Amino acid sequence: MTDTDMTDNRALVQLSAAQMAERIASGAVSSRELVEAHLAVIESAEPSIKAFLRVSADAALEQADAFDARHAKAGEDDLSPLAGVPIAIKDMIVTKGIVTTAASKILEGWVPPYDATVISRLKAAGMPILGKTNLDEFAQGSSTEHSAYQTTHNPWDTSRVPGGSGGGSASAVAAFEAPLALGTDTGGSIRQPGSLTGTVGVKPTYGGVSRFGAIAMASSLDQIGPVSRTVLDSALLQETIGGYDKRDSTSIPMPVPPVSQAAREGARQDLHGVRVGLVKELSGDGFQPGVEARFNEAVELLQAMGAEVTEVSCPHLPYSLGAYYIIMPSEVSSNLARYDGMRYGLRVMPPDGVPQTAANMMAYTREKGFGDEVKRRIILGTYALSAGYYDAWYGSAQKVRTLIIDDFRKAFERADVLISPTSPSTAFAFGEKMQDPLAMYMNDVATIPANLAGVPAMSIPAGVSDDGLPVGFQFIAPQKHDELMYKPAAALESALTQQWGGPIWRSMDTPWLSNR
Ligand code: GLN
Repeated sequence: MTDTDMTDNRALVQLSAAQMAERIASGAVSSRELVEAHLAVIESAEPSIKAFLRVSADAALEQADAFDARHAKAGEDDLSPLAGVPIAIKDMIVTKGIVTTAASKILEGWVPPYDATVISRLKAAGMPILGKTNLDEFAQGSSTEHSAYQTTHNPWDTSRVPGGSGGGSASAVAAFEAPLALGTDTGGSIRQPGSLTGTVGVKPTYGGVSRFGAIAMASSLDQIGPVSRTVLDSALLQETIGGYDKRDSTSIPMPVPPVSQAAREGARQDLHGVRVGLVKELSGDGFQPGVEARFNEAVELLQAMGAEVTEVSCPHLPYSLGAYYIIMPSEVSSNLARYDGMRYGLRVMPPDGVPQTAANMMAYTREKGFGDEVKRRIILGTYALSAGYYDAWYGSAQKVRTLIIDDFRKAFERADVLISPTSPSTAFAFGEKMQDPLAMYMNDVATIPANLAGVPAMSIPAGVSDDGLPVGFQFIAPQKHDELMYKPAAALESALTQQWGGPIWRSMDTPWLSNR
């Protein structure tokens, strides 16, 4: 590749997805050119970032060519708003013909025979798939260090984690390897990596985006959602993948809320009439000073744009983490029972090659196939659900969950949208929390409540802390009203971008984008 190529690529990949789509629609750039530009960045970035488990270059180019041919024939008429723009997919979402592993040995080499609904929708919109991104095994973790295959590095500082479990998707987007990505969020796996990598991450309303074809972790909490560099890009992506799906029994039969309209309104920086509730229990103690500082400044900006900010209390939120670590492992233990060496994925025989019983073969398979964190959760969940303990653990946790849902209901009587920092700290170093599961779990104190209540929430960058690392700002909206968080999020993004004189990533070093 020549120097001019890389310079052109750099300009192209730093556009927002919406801008890329405009250029495609007007014929200024083709989908193939966009895919090629991103493949070039992937090639130079991956040795230091390692966001991808698999790059599907040939398939992406084929999809791009098919789109370009259709577009040349049909003109601009019924183009989807992200038509022709490439995307990366967390390896927790099944893709027909592309190996999908959930970053687990137990699914090594598994090629799904079908597409998740979100993938079918991306394909219908003409969006080429660049590849599958790394994650903590079965989306269990907050640093992507629990992947069975590789650790992903944070583009802001490659000696630090990108967060998790969706660290691959977040790093890919932050490093300009992809303009957009999909993640899954069970307790924060889209928002917390967004916070740690200075990207936008959205967990839509539970049931707002089909889970058909999302590998199940904890079904009552799991939600697929967008990863992007701008609020509008996430809105456009949510509109592309969202909406009712009869193949998901928890899918809500209603159209996608008007999120891109809300994002465009927000960009005008007028928040008069918007009631913002600052959640008392989700800030203060335990949050890094630099995180608090950026958060408080952003709150002042919201006020300066006309928002009415009041403190609200959700007294049961301090019990979220406890309830989550009963409910989530319980569902994990049940969902992961299907990996038994019988149906698909890995099969490990006893050393002499002759299984005495099926159970014996299953035991060998699960022992070799699952990592420590996944095993820890299966054991926890199996215990919590066992006869005699069910009421004491699972039953109590469900009651706490109801109290949390009620807290949010009351808070939303006083506020249109709630706010908090996304994560207690900025990106931490590799290994820092691996020996202490509780310290790792604490990363999600502020993100888990939204999963328990099924309400939508998102993280946007709120600046960099004194350590030079990005800080995330979380918005939480009432169920089925995702648009209510997009508007203030877009307003804050717009005000902050103005203040910084450009997007947050201006202050990130990107040696992999420079001329070689
Ligand atoms: N980090 C949380 C956990 O380990 C959330 C995971 C997720 O959202 N998939 O469970």
